[in-house]
Amino acid sequence: MFIDSTPSNIRRLSSFDRFRFSCHGGLSCFNSCCANKHLPLTPYDVLRLKNALGMHSDDFLSRHTLYNVDPGTGFPVVAIRMEDDPGRTCPFVSVRGCTVYADRPTSCRLYPLARAVSARTGGEVRKEFYYLLDAPACLGTREDPVRTVHEWVADQELGMYLTLNDRMVDFVLRVKTSLGRPLDERALHKVVVALYNLDVFRDFVASTNLLDALNTEEYLRRRVHHDDLSLLELGLVYLRRALVS
Ligand code: SF4
Ligand code: SF4
Repeated sequence: MFIDSTPSNIRRLSSFDRFRFSCHGGLSCFNSCCANKHLPLTPYDVLRLKNALGMHSDDFLSRHTLYNVDPGTGFPVVAIRMEDDPGRTCPFVSVRGCTVYADRPTSCRLYPLARAVSARTGGEVRKEFYYLLDAPACLGTREDPVRTVHEWVADQELGMYLTLNDRMVDFVLRVKTSLGRPLDERALHKVVVALYNLDVFRDFVASTNLLDALNTEEYLRRRVHHDDLSLLELGLVYLRRALVS
């Protein structure tokens, strides 16, 4: 979602720009786009999906994701592992559509839009823009209704997804600035556990004195054992302490 990873010839959309789109089972392209995609997952995407599927985070990550390391930052880039079939279908698609629809990841919610965030080197998120993805085979882009970007973001319940994504952008840039180099193997492992493998992180928290060592506030201390969002919050506190000087 960084500004410099977007194509140069796109038309930037503001919140009040309008576009036409509707996706439904009556279209001949239905389900065709849920395959052969690079679908990156934020920590919040992983949290929602593994809970929707009732899976331990370790099982979810090893069964449904793969990850690369971003060479510039050393941070993991986690993505959905497409099935090993000829069409490389998404593991969550069925003849009736997306089986994890209520918890589908950010990029699926945003579609047919994509969003870019520009940020200062110091790690301060500054501004965002949206653009329409180039998808000539998507018949939904010819369907009514016409909506504004703002209406689409609200309709797709993207608020929490985007807020947490922007906190991650901010965090990655702060770490990059502070370290002056990409994460090493040890730091990478800490990031994967504290942000993506939350059920393992929960066991780590329970078996160590981490809460005391971080002077964890009472409201967070009470919640981390049963609330994944609070655990993710603690993960950021822990990593900030470990990686940002
Ligand atoms: S190609 Fe477009 S309209 Fe067709 S299923 Fe995918 S998102 Fe919906
Ligand atoms: S998560 Fe759902 S919407 Fe996204 S690609 Fe997979 S099946 Fe399609």
